Amino acid sequence: MLLTVLGCSGSVPGPNAPASGYLLEAEGFALGLELGTGTFAALQAIRDPFLLDGLLFSHLHADHCADFAALTTFLRYHPRPTRDPRANRLAVYAPSEAPSRFVNAYATDEADRAVTDLSDVFDFRPLTTGKFHIGPFDVVVAPAAHPCESFSFRVAHGGRSLVYTGDTGVCGTLTELAHGADVIMSEASWTHGSVAVPDLHLSGREAGELAATAGAGRLLVTHVPPWTDRDAVLAEARTAFPGPVEAVEQGMVYEL
Ligand SMILES: [Zn+2]
Ligand SMILES: [Zn+2]
Repeated sequence: MLLTVLGCSGSVPGPNAPASGYLLEAEGFALGLELGTGTFAALQAIRDPFLLDGLLFSHLHADHCADFAALTTFLRYHPRPTRDPRANRLAVYAPSEAPSRFVNAYATDEADRAVTDLSDVFDFRPLTTGKFHIGPFDVVVAPAAHPCESFSFRVAHGGRSLVYTGDTGVCGTLTELAHGADVIMSEASWTHGSVAVPDLHLSGREAGELAATAGAGRLLVTHVPPWTDRDAVLAEARTAFPGPVEAVEQGMVYEL
């Protein structure tokens, strides 16, 4: 499995990275994971968007999905598509409100919304908790602790596993999902104790504790907002987890 970072800034795009977006590849299958603010530019720099095989969204906050509107325009109006988007609709695995949410982001007014239907280029598949397959990947979906319908994922291929937290507070289902993972890519949005809002985000310490409890092989820290001290978050995570910890960087490719 190859993981490419299209964006990793938390909550908003930052000066050095777009918001959340990743590309997971195996056996020639390209799965987009989130498409947050600014990530569509980063995607085009490395891949033809027509050659995406699927898209997976943890939840529908703008920092994870705002560039879906740009992708829609690209797939519909590119004058020389490398494949027919109507014959090969892109599978979109997302929370159930995705079709209406994305129409609202794309259409301009009520009349436009009434006639806009994105099913010409997208095949929406609502996520539910449990196991399923996307191309060559075995995917486990677990509910996350975040203010909207949100999920965490465990993606496995070739005997290797990646757990991606999405946005979440500490929760038991995530602990269970992460058990024994080779790599955990965890959000860490603040330093521990600096914000006292439950069921929203993880601190650096909580990300480290998640990896330690799971017995993970490696912790990749992501989704650090521009207003948060990334070094302090990393230091907390390293205190809690004795294994390798690093902050993902824009454009980096990880062999998992
Ligand atoms: Zn977020
Ligand atoms: Zn969120």
